[in-house]
Amino acid sequence: MTNEQTNELLHSLRHWVFDLDDTLYPPSPEVYDQMAKRIQSYIMRMLDVDKETAWYIQKSYYKKYGATVHGLMIEHQIDPSDFTRYVHRLDLSSLKPDPEMQKLLAALPGKRYVFTNGAHEHAARVLEQIGLDKVINGIFAIDEAGYVPKPAPQTYEKMLATFEIDRAKSMMFDDNQANVLAAKKEGMFATWISSNVANNKYCAVDEKDFCDFQTTDVKTFLTPYFMPSGN
Ligand SMILES: [Mg+2]
Repeated sequence: MTNEQTNELLHSLRHWVFDLDDTLYPPSPEVYDQMAKRIQSYIMRMLDVDKETAWYIQKSYYKKYGATVHGLMIEHQIDPSDFTRYVHRLDLSSLKPDPEMQKLLAALPGKRYVFTNGAHEHAARVLEQIGLDKVINGIFAIDEAGYVPKPAPQTYEKMLATFEIDRAKSMMFDDNQANVLAAKKEGMFATWISSNVANNKYCAVDEKDFCDFQTTDVKTFLTPYFMPSGN
């Protein structure tokens, strides 16, 4: 696709759907480490296991179920709201406001949504912290998904119906390849954010054409088309 064709396509879109973590803000070791520790201590307490076992459970459920909380629900009948309340009590002060991203999102035609496997409350707090809460029209988090995480097709369909999204005029951005592929299968345009190299081994897909576009981050990709003067 030429730059001109890409420009035309992007300007025809009316629904912009963004993953949150590692997509609307760069990978943050501070936040990730806190969350990993809280998930670990939650599992240790609820399942009465040691640290190493908790770590193993976390990794294997994330891989098998797409979200640790979904695995804990299925395998151990834990209450997902109890889990998210505990795990997402994070200090987000290391995340900085991103006025450039804020201006860019504001310049996109149509509506902008966050679609995340994290908890709603976490998403709302992060968006406020990075200064994007005013430019996001809605959040569809794991709570709204009934704790069935992306890339489950029923979760995409629920999200698309909730926001009344016209698939042919929508684009999904996600750092997880499986989530990007799932968006494409639903008839959305899809862009893979390749910044989260550490995570890619958990979500690599075999399909070569799993995305329409690939970029290191949202700003690098969209700024030339929507903020050509750079301000
Ligand atoms: Mg992500």
